[in-house]
Amino acid sequence: MANIIDGKQVAEDVIATVTKATATLAEKGVTPGLAVVIVGEDPASQVYVASKSKKAKACGFHSVQHTLAADTPQADLLALIGHLNADPAIHGILVQLPLPDHIDAGAVIQAISPDKDVDGFTFVNVGRLGTGEVASAFVPCTPAGSMLLIERERGRDLSGLSAVVVGRSNIVGKPMANLLLAANCTVTVAHSRTKDLPALCRTADILVAAVGRPEMVRGDWVKEGATVIDVGINRIPAPEKGEGKTRLVGDVAFGEAFERAGAITPVPGGVGPMTIAMLMANTLVSASRAAGIEPPK
Ligand code: NDP
Repeated sequence: MANIIDGKQVAEDVIATVTKATATLAEKGVTPGLAVVIVGEDPASQVYVASKSKKAKACGFHSVQHTLAADTPQADLLALIGHLNADPAIHGILVQLPLPDHIDAGAVIQAISPDKDVDGFTFVNVGRLGTGEVASAFVPCTPAGSMLLIERERGRDLSGLSAVVVGRSNIVGKPMANLLLAANCTVTVAHSRTKDLPALCRTADILVAAVGRPEMVRGDWVKEGATVIDVGINRIPAPEKGEGKTRLVGDVAFGEAFERAGAITPVPGGVGPMTIAMLMANTLVSASRAAGIEPPK
């Protein structure tokens, strides 16, 4: 039976480290600043943005939220990004996705200064990670958090381990694969056209599921003793809890995989809490770099 990886606890540890380092920076006159930009009134996005702003304040950051109307012209959003890029009190800029259809999300993301791109989505940071320059890159928060959980579980030397990442999105799958490759794993990236996915998954010492399909990865896809990282967050009906009720599940059938894995992240309470924690860590690093101070490890 697997060790259950407590992402909530690890995230709390990261936040505690960030909060302490922020207090030390404050003694040197530096306060990390995070600007979160949201366009429109998508309720899920509003919840995410509010929790990011709240966590930033709790860490001792200067936290600013820009809420723009759903019909805001792209030019106005780009002007705001330009203003934030130039603002020395801001070290991290986050544009909450998705953006309304009339806005070219790619153009907006690429307008963020790579030095303030704490989501790690600009071409400069993607390129740094892709060329193995991990230390100088801002790495997207979900894969960065997943990697921390893997290292906590297996130690920092992952050399030669076989890793399978299911999913090839730009925000999770690809950066996850690049992180594992930079850590000297032998990495395979699987996707919707992959043949015999169960057999491929069974080769993995480290199995990362980032698919968005509830409980797709079954227990018999898991190699005995593997570390299983379930990135998926899927809301499914839960009639057992009452009419109209729902519950969250991952992309891995947890109960089955738990029997075979060496360690596994639960949903909720695994990767989810790590994402915001890594956003705070990236913002702290950005503020430290801007001040010419060595960021905390
Ligand atoms: P995307 O929809 O962007 O990507 C999904 C990937 O899964 C694609 O590469 C797709 O392949 C692949 N895929 C889909 N169906 C199959 C299949 N049947 N077999 C194999 N591969 C398949 O999703 P994201 O990467 O953005 O997110 C993935 C999951 O992670 C979601 O559940 C999301 O909610 C969750 N998530 C969680 C976060 C957190 O904080 N914990 C943050 C971000 C995401 P193809 O490219 O061929 O279409």
